Amino acid sequence: MSEICAVCGLPKELCVCESIAKESQKIIVKIEKKKFGKVYTVITGLDEKEINMKDLSKKLKTQFACGGTTKKNNIELQGDHKQKVKNFLVKMGFAPESVEVR
Ligand SMILES: [Zn+2]
Repeated sequence: MSEICAVCGLPKELCVCESIAKESQKIIVKIEKKKFGKVYTVITGLDEKEINMKDLSKKLKTQFACGGTTKKNNIELQGDHKQKVKNFLVKMGFAPESVEVR
């Protein structure tokens, strides 16, 4: 009989509460269609206090050879780079489970 986590009610070996706490950031990668049929990959939920947004944005734009804008805790990249963005963020040290691709 395994121990049950008091927070999520799952057995301790399945509990993800601790990793969620460690990775307080919930990053969402999604596609936004704008006028004139332009498609953007939007990365949102980044903690601007923890992350150098300008630096990250620059790295992403270089990696995907695209333009983009940074607004507070939001990075918009031109084009659809959804899956590649996740792989890139994971490579940069973000936990895969903290990056949600929509
Ligand atoms: Zn738990």
